[in-house]
Amino acid sequence: MSLDLALYVVPTPIGNLADITQRALQVLEQVSLICCEDTRHSGKLFSHFGISTKTLSVHDHNERQRAGTIIGKLQAGESVALVSDAGTPLISDPGYHLVSQVRAAGFNVVPLPGPCAATTALCASGLPSDRFTFEGFLPAKAKARTDVLQALLQEPRTMIFYESPRRVLDSLASIVEVMGPEREVVLAREITKSFETIKGLPVGELIDWLNEDENRTRGEMVLMIAPFRDDGDSLPAEALRTTELLCQELPLKKAAALAAQIHGVKKNALYKYGLDQGW
Ligand code: SAM
Repeated sequence: MSLDLALYVVPTPIGNLADITQRALQVLEQVSLICCEDTRHSGKLFSHFGISTKTLSVHDHNERQRAGTIIGKLQAGESVALVSDAGTPLISDPGYHLVSQVRAAGFNVVPLPGPCAATTALCASGLPSDRFTFEGFLPAKAKARTDVLQALLQEPRTMIFYESPRRVLDSLASIVEVMGPEREVVLAREITKSFETIKGLPVGELIDWLNEDENRTRGEMVLMIAPFRDDGDSLPAEALRTTELLCQELPLKKAAALAAQIHGVKKNALYKYGLDQGW
């Protein structure tokens, strides 16, 4: 295979080395230079596959400056590849500025298909896959996190997030706070690796399940939230609590109407949920 002059965007495995494609290996062997997020990290992958192409570090902090060097290579007629530590470059990884500058300079950017944790997780989640939204990582700070989730409260598509083991329980607690304990979530952990686990439960129950065994919160993970459904399953926990309290003094219909006003949700959904609960 001879390469056309281009910047090649090359996905690499997210755990299982057998997931590298033949085309990825051919491109990585034939380009003049491989841009890596971390040259030492990717160096291990390249030596496993016997690839000895020169590497250059391109990460969040130097990407814009490096674009000049890479465009220089392309001007000299040399093709370049871009990889990240794992998975598809640009997807919660560096590469966006480089790709846009290379395109602006008039050169081709050729994307190779390959491993990506978000779409791989979605395919086994059992959640609707006809429409979905990828949201990257949720913010670390609680207020910013609940703000993001609040804006997604009535999102009609499956929501995909990358998550870290240190923060997953905090994120799940925020989901309960904003979307209620009944919202279905799926956690896909260590995909393509020995301890791959894909678990789907209402978020309140998933927290209990994770707390039963600390191994369940280890490793790399993707968190997916089911789309909003216009029924009690998707109501915020606060709105349910208010309705339940008001029901101690008022008929359910009035309690649901008041709670709906207070929390800005649909009263019929609260009413139906209350009926199911026998309030
Ligand atoms: N560009 C990568 C991709 O295409 O998937 C993602 C890079 S992002 C910096 C790393 C995050 O991806 C991890 O924190 C985790 O949320 C997710 N991830 C990567 N590998 C994974 C795996 N094997 N199983 C589950 N999630 C994974």
